[in-house]
Amino acid sequence: MNALAAFLLLAGSALAAETTVTVGGRPLSGLQGAKGDPSAYELAPVSDWIDEPFDTVLLQGVLRDSRIIIEAARAQTRGTPEPERLDWVRAETAVFPGGRFWAKARLPNAARGRVLMRTLASGHGQAPGAEVFEVEAFTAAEDRESERSAAASPAPVPVRCEAPKPAVVPREDWGAKPPKEPYSPMTPVKITQHHTAGKRPTAPEEALAEMRFIQDFHQNGRGWIDIGYHFVIDGAGRIYQGRPETVLGTHVADHNGGNVGISLMGTYHPPNNDEFSAPQREALIGLLLWLRDAHGISPDTYIGHRDYNPKTSCPGDLVEAELPALRDSMRAARAPFASAAGRLELERLPRLIERARADGGF
Ligand SMILES: [Zn+2]
Repeated sequence: MNALAAFLLLAGSALAAETTVTVGGRPLSGLQGAKGDPSAYELAPVSDWIDEPFDTVLLQGVLRDSRIIIEAARAQTRGTPEPERLDWVRAETAVFPGGRFWAKARLPNAARGRVLMRTLASGHGQAPGAEVFEVEAFTAAEDRESERSAAASPAPVPVRCEAPKPAVVPREDWGAKPPKEPYSPMTPVKITQHHTAGKRPTAPEEALAEMRFIQDFHQNGRGWIDIGYHFVIDGAGRIYQGRPETVLGTHVADHNGGNVGISLMGTYHPPNNDEFSAPQREALIGLLLWLRDAHGISPDTYIGHRDYNPKTSCPGDLVEAELPALRDSMRAARAPFASAAGRLELERLPRLIERARADGGF
């Protein structure tokens, strides 16, 4: 085994695969609000059986009322569970502007089973529930990323660059927090496509806020050192820098080494079925072409998250179906120019960032 292969193996080994929690094969989404009596609760549908041990249930979405309390439990029998007999765990919840939230319940041990969730009313009246984009189950102990393989990474080798670098909103412009630990250097050799399984904002203010949400979800919800992806594309086709593409990311369990993670804001999967629009496609192709030329990455390496882990719905049925056409575009010799609409939006962005800073937004 050569040094690069050893590095790739080490670098990718520290992250457990997450499983999208489903009900009848569809992602579990939506939580009913609980009624006024604090002892009353509303039970979400019991999930399908998850055949891999998990000790953490992590969900994210939009709360309609911050008074909602979310609890999770695991049923380890395949029959109809009795909610009263389960050990319920209260989820830690972080709420952002507009009710954007993530919630994390840590179960006492790792085991296979089915996920149950319920909401409780914390005050008086009825908490109106939540829109849930995605619920995931995984083993947290294995999910912490390890940075121990840093020294083995070779320096990036620049190659001839034909395709221009598309405009990318830098970290300081979306209000990124610093990484919690130093990064590990990485030579990009392949690309994985994701969706955020979250909101698909097109307005700049909302997209900047969503970037800050995703970073917090990854740093404090998942416990990673930084946002997991290297690039994120919003609903209007603006590209944001996540981690620098020359450092190790955290986005595909066991396959992070050399792997550039690109994520589309939105949920491109039933029942949400967000639109993968022409401006998003143009931005993505521009980014893929630049990565191809700047880092010598083969279009054949560009695949979807679920191609590594069939238990995740990421990047959604709609985007996964586009990947062969996107690989074909990536094989094309020249970069397309950014759409006029995309350029206009990018020109507006600095002023919006200035205003957000002045308002103390970040
Ligand atoms: Zn993914």
